[in-house]
Amino acid sequence: MPSANKKLRHSDASASRPALLLEWYDRHRRRLPWRPLAGEHADPYRVWLSEIMLQQTGVKTVGPYFEKFIARWPNVEALGGASLDDVLRMWAGLGYYSRARNLHACAVAVRNEHGGVFPDTEEGLRALPGIGPYTASAIAAIAFGRQTMPVDGNIERVVSRLYAVEEPLPQAKPLIQQLAATLLGPARAGDVNSRAGDSAQALMDLGSSICTPKKPACVLCPLNEDCLGRARGDQESFPRKAPKKTGALRRGAAFVVTRGSELLVRSRPEKGLLGGMTEVPTSDWLADQDDKAAAKQAPAIKGATRWHRKAGVVTHVFTHFPLELVVHTASVPARTRAPQGMRWVPIATLKDEALPNVMRKVIAHGLGL
Ligand code: SF4
Repeated sequence: MPSANKKLRHSDASASRPALLLEWYDRHRRRLPWRPLAGEHADPYRVWLSEIMLQQTGVKTVGPYFEKFIARWPNVEALGGASLDDVLRMWAGLGYYSRARNLHACAVAVRNEHGGVFPDTEEGLRALPGIGPYTASAIAAIAFGRQTMPVDGNIERVVSRLYAVEEPLPQAKPLIQQLAATLLGPARAGDVNSRAGDSAQALMDLGSSICTPKKPACVLCPLNEDCLGRARGDQESFPRKAPKKTGALRRGAAFVVTRGSELLVRSRPEKGLLGGMTEVPTSDWLADQDDKAAAKQAPAIKGATRWHRKAGVVTHVFTHFPLELVVHTASVPARTRAPQGMRWVPIATLKDEALPNVMRKVIAHGLGL
């Protein structure tokens, strides 16, 4: 079967893919609050803000937040002059709060170190807080017309189907990146008339509206005549994925402590698994840890704390290991102080906290929700 696994192939038809894509985009581009109208130049601030908000969050949810931010802070100088607390408050509900902290840090850096003007190269953008390779590429292409193709999950799917990439993810990423770049419209780097940003947005739109994970609408696709996956009839099986390697089971204990209608929580370290997210206190998560050893790591709360071990366990599967947590609960008197590094939050506002799924399960189990 034909595939793009070993080397890039260029048919006559492939040369017209960028043009077909742009023609389709001109007719079907989605109207999004951060997107300028056809022919208008994109504002780097709006592109950056939307790209940060769209990390791990869908377009529908992001829309109203984007509008609120723009109304309050219409440019990067205004956002860089805001307090972190105000930014976090406005962000509440979008989740993954480390993004909000980085957003603020980035705005401060652009305001104080770059005179309020975003760098216009990928390298310059990547040096800013919270901007990784994908976001730098997206901003460079969309806001500055740089000849670079940002590759997210949607674009990975379209490209791996188009070229029937047999190599599984994540190893296939460099090949997919290379193939995706061939779909950029022609232009010189930095050319103000470059349509690199439109090529990228066209692929993003195609991936989210036509080349969907299940049942792609191939009849409506501008690239359908030249799609290897479609020709083979197994397009839905792309992108190929390596079977998941799951590590050894880890065990631990989680401690659900209530003070009236409040819950004891802390923030995870910024770096590492679930970085910066909110959790109830837990023991270490280790393979071969017995319940007794885990229970001994309960938070040190002043006064006598009567722990109650909830029946059953909470299980969660992370990418690299499955986890089993025993849940201990305790109820402490009003005015009990939170141990160092922890805080009380009203249970009613937990939805505004950056709680990972595993913690939602633990809290539901501990509170009997
Ligand atoms: S033809 Fe179908 S599978 Fe191929 S890129 Fe278009 S929508 Fe995706």
